[in-house]
Amino acid sequence: FTPKPKEPDKPAKLPGVSHVVAISSGKGGVGKSTVSSNLAVALAGRGLRVGLLDADVYGPSQPRMLGISGRPSAAGNTILPLRNHGVTVMSLGLMVEEDEALVWRGPMLMGALQQMLAQVQWGTLDVLLVDLPPGTGDVQMTLCQKTDVAGAVVVSTPQDIALIDARKGIDMFRRMGTPILGLVENMSSFVCDGCGKEHHPFGHGGARADAERLGVPFLGEIPLHLGIRMASDGGAPIVAQKPDSEEAAPFWALADRLI
Ligand code: ADP
Repeated sequence: FTPKPKEPDKPAKLPGVSHVVAISSGKGGVGKSTVSSNLAVALAGRGLRVGLLDADVYGPSQPRMLGISGRPSAAGNTILPLRNHGVTVMSLGLMVEEDEALVWRGPMLMGALQQMLAQVQWGTLDVLLVDLPPGTGDVQMTLCQKTDVAGAVVVSTPQDIALIDARKGIDMFRRMGTPILGLVENMSSFVCDGCGKEHHPFGHGGARADAERLGVPFLGEIPLHLGIRMASDGGAPIVAQKPDSEEAAPFWALADRLI
């Protein structure tokens, strides 16, 4: 069954923003927000002007991961974004209390997404990363239809169940005519601090094989590391907190592949 899609409006370029890049995943919990925040800080570290729009409307985690709090202020009918670690940030999470759910129906969410894109004073940016909610729903479709998206990065763990959904995401972007910049394998390995051996709790290599099969670039592997989780929980992504560490290296490599 293929419903006839509504004729899409011509995607609009955001004034002042050179490239909009979507960060997506099929499933929640695979590390999409962790990749988004670290990639944003790494791109900023390479000298680019970077914005991050947290469009993960049901679980906006960027304020916590980037150590941002307080309400963005309004200027006329525009909104002033906040800034930390060299990145300009806007999140729906900044509009509600941390424990407060957004009990909104689809049209309200789509309205909020469009406001965050168009009414936020992003300034001049080389790249605006958009941390999408997981899956292939309204937010993803609205973003691709209404905004000129340069490409999408798909994050997955090596686990089959995550990869199945990642493939669906790739299929959706293809149908929307959005270029796929590549697939990232997160939580690909784990080095035990007791025995020193490398383990693969979610399997290994599945994303690379899928990328090859689907004809999309493979953008690299990011290990599961306690330091990555602790840094994000503390409000300073590992790339900001320990830029020269082994844990930060895969995020720098990802940024360099995308530049
Ligand atoms: P998503 O955005 O896909 O829902 P998150 O980025 O919120 O996923 O990650 C889910 C949890 O896993 C978070 O607690 C995060 O700190 C942790 N996490 C993500 N990637 C890694 C990693 N490579 N190493 C350690 N912890 C990670």
